[in-house]
Amino acid sequence: MKIAVLPGDGIGPEIMAEAVNVLNALGEKFELEEAPVGGAGYEAHGHPLPESTLKLAKEADAILFGAVGDWKYDKLERALRPEQAILGLRKHLQLFANFRPAICYPQLTAASSLKPEIVSGLDILIVRELNGDIYFGQPRGVRQAPDGPFEGAREGFDTMRYSEPEVRRIAHVAFAAAQKRQKKLTSVDKANVLETSQLWRDTMIDVAKEYPEVELSHMYVDNAAMQLVKAPKAFDVVVTGNMFGDILSDEAAMLTGSIGMLPSASLDKNNKGLYEPSHGSAPDIAGKGVANPLATILSAAMMLRYSLGKAEQADRIESAVKKVLEQGFRTGDIATQDGKTVGTKEMGAAVLAAL
Ligand code: NAD
Repeated sequence: MKIAVLPGDGIGPEIMAEAVNVLNALGEKFELEEAPVGGAGYEAHGHPLPESTLKLAKEADAILFGAVGDWKYDKLERALRPEQAILGLRKHLQLFANFRPAICYPQLTAASSLKPEIVSGLDILIVRELNGDIYFGQPRGVRQAPDGPFEGAREGFDTMRYSEPEVRRIAHVAFAAAQKRQKKLTSVDKANVLETSQLWRDTMIDVAKEYPEVELSHMYVDNAAMQLVKAPKAFDVVVTGNMFGDILSDEAAMLTGSIGMLPSASLDKNNKGLYEPSHGSAPDIAGKGVANPLATILSAAMMLRYSLGKAEQADRIESAVKKVLEQGFRTGDIATQDGKTVGTKEMGAAVLAAL
């Protein structure tokens, strides 16, 4: 099995090194091949997603991605900025299903801004559609308003759209994920106002007939935003469109209080995927050896489960991470008074020892 390893920028290479050590310690015959991406891709080949990196990503069975971005590239034209690499990979590889688990480990409840009893044991999976919606809908632009009370004034406009096959595709992914968990799926939309959402809801109801064991419910996005902070443990799997998912997945991430702990996956229709921590390249702490490698290590576990068919090895990694937390190992971002504050390498070594 071939894994494309794309460390990227900032803390990317530091956290990736620990995830690679963990993968190598599993005793499996993985072929790991590294390539530059983001700012590193620009430095090496003049483009954030060099041809050779894209080729490797296409050939590989799965992609493990660190993070991209650094302030020093902010002045480059948009097409050459590091963040374009991730958008390019999503587009070229047709990665349409984004999985963002939000898990609150009991040992880390103090890191959440919510009361411990509300978040302790929290385990939600947000499934966000990545390729459609208002982010990509045409037409869009800035023009002179053709009519209305502000006729003639400059106006910006975007188009929210979803086709039925697009909604069916993400619905199947979400139902299949719910089947493997608590069998509760909440579809989030704004069907009281938006035509796109009505089609979304009708399609979800139709697809639900194929998954009789999964309990489907619907929630308007404004209510979902409230329920996520009021009673987050009531959710199991949440499925939603690109824009609502963008916002709700960040809200859910913050319930756990520790961005350095959260993995993510973006999958295509064959479950090939790109796996990456939910956080960015953290240029403020890059090179200091203090970044939390656990989100990347947990992303590797997701990769084993969803793309490489190695659920047992994924369980081993996730158990090892729980064990190091129980043992009190903490990087700065999840530091607690009674824990041992360690650096990136020590945290990686603790996971290896627990494995
Ligand atoms: P960020 O996630 O990089 O950092 C936010 C804060 O969280 C910082 O204080 C950082 O030190 C901390 N942090 C993040 N990950 C951590 C870890 N593993 N351990 C400990 N602390 C951690 O977000 P930002 O500062 O807004 O963005 C920095 C750069 O990352 C920008 O160039 C941005 O475009 C890019 N970015 C990339 C991705 C990606 O690669 N998918 C995602 C988001 C942001």
